[in-house]
Amino acid sequence: MKNRVPISEIFKSKSKKAEIAGWVKNSRALGKIKFLVLRDISGEIQITAPEKSTDRKVFEIIDKIPRESVISVIGEIKESKQAPGGKEIIPDKIEILNKSEELLPIDVSDFSKTELPKRLDYRFLDLHRRRIQAIFQVQSTILQGFREFMIKEKAIEAVFPSIISSSSEGGTELYKLKYFERDAYLSQSCQLYKQMLACSMEKVFTLFTVWRAEKHNTTRHLNESRQLDFEMAFADEFAVMDVLARCVQYIVKKVLEENKEELKILEVKLNVPKTKYITFKEVADLMKKNKIHIGKDDLTPEVEKKLCEIYPDTIVFVHDWPISGKPFYIMPKQGQKSLPASSNGQSKGKDSSAGFDAIYQGVEISSGGQRVHIPELLVERLKAKGLNPKNFESYIESFKYGAPPHAGWGMGLERLTMLILGLNNIREAVLFPRDRDRLTP
Ligand code: ATP
Ligand code: MG
Repeated sequence: MKNRVPISEIFKSKSKKAEIAGWVKNSRALGKIKFLVLRDISGEIQITAPEKSTDRKVFEIIDKIPRESVISVIGEIKESKQAPGGKEIIPDKIEILNKSEELLPIDVSDFSKTELPKRLDYRFLDLHRRRIQAIFQVQSTILQGFREFMIKEKAIEAVFPSIISSSSEGGTELYKLKYFERDAYLSQSCQLYKQMLACSMEKVFTLFTVWRAEKHNTTRHLNESRQLDFEMAFADEFAVMDVLARCVQYIVKKVLEENKEELKILEVKLNVPKTKYITFKEVADLMKKNKIHIGKDDLTPEVEKKLCEIYPDTIVFVHDWPISGKPFYIMPKQGQKSLPASSNGQSKGKDSSAGFDAIYQGVEISSGGQRVHIPELLVERLKAKGLNPKNFESYIESFKYGAPPHAGWGMGLERLTMLILGLNNIREAVLFPRDRDRLTP
């Protein structure tokens, strides 16, 4: 296999012979001529075997190899008007590297109608489909785009622990585990660690896996998900909303440039999003006009959807969020001092916070805000949320010896993938989903 070339190369190459390998998409016999379509990650090509010029053994097996088997083929490259792409291979030699079972457990054809749960049971085989490969090729671009953007911003990449001793957020449910003689938990966010790091390294980012033990069963929640996280010192919420806007725009631009074929396969029409900044109060007024119920301190999925109908192809930043609807570490608007980077919040109301949500394509993609960096205020906020400051001692202490004001955000990788591609279930955007009913494969 050392001479193997990607199938797509054949269409550009001038050579007369080639060795290729891949998966059997289909085959058929038309009397004295047999065809097989071979696929690898780069493309597909027709193998054409005329009876009179093909080795007898090769001719005999060519239409007997079960679909999705892996084979290698050595043969002659021929121009052909009838063949898709204008070229075909006349095989001299075919070797079966892994013979597939005749009966496939799911339909892997381009028009597969197998339902999602069954497809996920056989994800490894589902990944033979071009459409599914396209989703994860786009996700790869998203990941690369995030990293590239952050490096250009001069942020440093860091990694954080996933086993923690107590809740870092309050609110969300945690998975408990035995840690020697003690109890420990799987992390539901890297919030506290990225803050501690930003307080010395100024600009930091990470890709972090989070676990949330909530029993929700929705099309937008997973129990294990990945977050693109960012934190920055000497910044308020407006400074980091600007970073988030440019980050998502950078990622979408990169997907548009590098995944033209994948976007076509997935039938996605994508534009680089604009931005809109709006206060929670303004959203409430807007919804009243549209006769849509809005919660006291949170946006319902219906409100998120409506906002994006009003502002299409836009990242909608809802800021000046009610303090009751944000975690303890979010800075109250009143505690905010003016900062060099500040483009200034609008309300200084006592019920308002420096927290925000970003909504894109009708769903929340990110939450963020300025953090509390004053230990006394942090204790006050913890108590206000009904949490015990004793459980947060080392976190509180980290702000006692020189901690700058800072802000940041976290954005769900699978959420972003799902929304960029218009997928109707977040499970489509994760290779091996973990939800309430699924722990395998
Ligand atoms: P939501 O209100 O949509 O349930 P959240 O406010 O609880 O989300 P955050 O703690 O703000 O979530 O997490 C930051 C981002 O991580 C979210 O904006 C979202 O993109 C993503 N995210 C959060 N929870 C999940 C989950 N259970 N599954 C997948 N992605 C998630
Ligand atoms: Mg949120």
